[in-house]
Amino acid sequence: MKPILFCMILICSWAPNCGVGQQQTKETTRTPAQQDLSSGGSPFPAELPKPQKKPSGPTTIKLTHDGRTFVGQPLAWDGKQLAMLRLDGELRVIPLKDKENAKVVSPEFEPYFPSELKKRLKREFGDRYDVSATKNCVVVHPWGDSEYWADPFELMIQRFESYFEKHKVELKKSQFTFIVIVLRSRKDFDRYMHNEIKLHNGNVAGFYSRLSNRIVTYDPSGLVRKPSQKSWLLGSQTMFHESAHQLAFNRGLHNRYSPPPLWLSEGLAMMFETSGLNKKRLDALRKFYDQRKVSGQMTRLLSDDTLFQLEPELAYSLSWGMAHYLSKQNPESFFTYLKEDAARPNFHVVSPPQRLKAFAKHFGNDIDKIEQGMRRYYK
Ligand SMILES: [Zn+2]
Repeated sequence: MKPILFCMILICSWAPNCGVGQQQTKETTRTPAQQDLSSGGSPFPAELPKPQKKPSGPTTIKLTHDGRTFVGQPLAWDGKQLAMLRLDGELRVIPLKDKENAKVVSPEFEPYFPSELKKRLKREFGDRYDVSATKNCVVVHPWGDSEYWADPFELMIQRFESYFEKHKVELKKSQFTFIVIVLRSRKDFDRYMHNEIKLHNGNVAGFYSRLSNRIVTYDPSGLVRKPSQKSWLLGSQTMFHESAHQLAFNRGLHNRYSPPPLWLSEGLAMMFETSGLNKKRLDALRKFYDQRKVSGQMTRLLSDDTLFQLEPELAYSLSWGMAHYLSKQNPESFFTYLKEDAARPNFHVVSPPQRLKAFAKHFGNDIDKIEQGMRRYYK
């Protein structure tokens, strides 16, 4: 499989008129998740409606807009647009000026069970695809060999859970079923990115979207697979990486509505790409040390996410280095910091000084000292 260069963890840059809220689909006939996705730009929560008042609880509402029906949990409303969490885990922003238009249909919010989700995904992706389900996952995939598609993701979940169990970090129970879409070919994947997220990038082998809460990738064999290649998913670092993203958001280590600093989410995901030391990331980081490009960049990554746009390879390498180093040298602080970041209020925008302060609370103010310790560690 072509190695991933950039991971597309979703950073939504939607503004009130950018069109995300207008891309409606019928509740009963969803098309593949329609999102605004970019590798940078303004952080997702900055543009979301600010709640006028705190929702009273996880109720389920139903509303119609432009002749279409939407059912889900209201998260925030600013008098013009409503952020809604749908029953399959997708986050939608829907124009809504009159709240009378939204009716409460249940005092609770109960997402779809895997069986219902499976039915809906079958309808969404049509005859060209099969859908397989296991205890925790529902996977849309090309026809044939259904046992090979969903089981590997159960193993990815096990690896993730075992790691945190070993470090005595309690994970929340997932509210939503783990969803993966494996498209038939690179061509289909490119078309999907073009149609659904307006993205062209030959280096992207898969992505996790915080809006759809799904992983999307493609079958690299082009449907001509030898029997020995059937377990390709287990050899895919990209899938371990994207699975870690979805799991971190679903299990309470990140907050989908107030996302973490990018170095933290990417660093964590890269820690799960391999079962042992991530040699590929280590080699890349050492290359940047040799080129003397690392110095001073840690403060930048801690403050904002701009390095991911300007020098993505350096940003990813250093993010892995930071997450790996801090989790090894100071695991207690690392996991506390992670959970505290996830506990921020929904749709809360964090300024660069606030980001630095949150980090310093757990690791101290002397970033240069941490940087020097890290350089010695990776020599
Ligand atoms: Zn990623």
